[in-house]
Amino acid sequence: MAVRLVPWDTSRNLLQETNRLYDEAGTFDCIQKGDLVAVKLHVGELGNPYYVQPCFVHDIVRRVKEAGGKPFLTDSNTAYQAQRNNAYDHMITALMNGFNMAPFIVADGLKSENFHLVKTKGILKEIEVSGVIAQADAMIVVSHCKGHELSGFGGAIKNLGMGCTPSAGKIRQHRTVGLEIDTSKCVGCGKCKDICPMHLPDIIEGKARNTSPLCMRCPMCIGACPMEAIRFVDKENLCKALASAAYGVLSTFKPKKASYVSFAKDITQYCDCLPNPGEIIMKDVGVFASNSPVSIDAAFLQTVDCKMLNDASHVDCMLQVKEAKAIGIEGEVKPKINTIN
Ligand code: SF4
Ligand code: SF4
Repeated sequence: MAVRLVPWDTSRNLLQETNRLYDEAGTFDCIQKGDLVAVKLHVGELGNPYYVQPCFVHDIVRRVKEAGGKPFLTDSNTAYQAQRNNAYDHMITALMNGFNMAPFIVADGLKSENFHLVKTKGILKEIEVSGVIAQADAMIVVSHCKGHELSGFGGAIKNLGMGCTPSAGKIRQHRTVGLEIDTSKCVGCGKCKDICPMHLPDIIEGKARNTSPLCMRCPMCIGACPMEAIRFVDKENLCKALASAAYGVLSTFKPKKASYVSFAKDITQYCDCLPNPGEIIMKDVGVFASNSPVSIDAAFLQTVDCKMLNDASHVDCMLQVKEAKAIGIEGEVKPKINTIN
């Protein structure tokens, strides 16, 4: 399962080059005439300029139509309160960020109520899959490669595992991580509670305590704490949960009905779910294409400084890739990369 790569070389016409990439990788071979084809992407959080540029998505939509498919753009709502938390705000965000080249159908409905519960493998036993994804005939998974504060890295596996699941599925994955408050550092200021969407943690006798089962393990309180008293623990579990959820999502497709394109450009320190994704930490690499989420993510990680990603997140960015392979998602953890010159 070789991965194809077009380097991000702006002396070349990158729209033409990505079309050569799709041809060589067979990106649209998964489409049959009349297929309803989900173009799974992330439309960007308002205020964050780092997401896949619409001109490339425009071209992917055109190619899906040429292959006989009926393309629609899709993503699932966020679990946290932001500009993509319900279908109305999500659709407005998509339009404001330039994604008007095909219908944008929010994958899990108005308020994340549309999903199928499926059995999966790995650390999760079952996972909620967004209904529109589960019903699609084929899928082109368009990912933006970046760092991630909880999983070290976000690419195709994360786009499947987190991006194709509704709020309930996202929370199920996040809750595999622990949240610890160091009471010796806590001064009881309540800034964590003020920012928390669930109005947690409780402040008891001047110290924050988080024992509520409602905690979603979003990172909002961590960023708000002036004493750096809050931290996630057992982050490895989330890497495994991403792989486990990705397996469940792919189980809703027939074999060979998904294909992957990943843009390793504007590689930021943090995830593009955030309105403030931090600095760009690496040089642009290029655009990858593959028929495997394992191979395409491994290929990206082979071309960059993983230590930088690991140091920023304190978690092994390769873990989700190895776990995905271990539980049976096809692909190579050391794929051959064919560069298109
Ligand atoms: S992680 Fe922090 S901000 Fe998020 S729900 Fe839990 S207590 Fe609230
Ligand atoms: S923000 Fe930090 S210091 Fe303030 S109450 Fe919460 S944990 Fe304690």
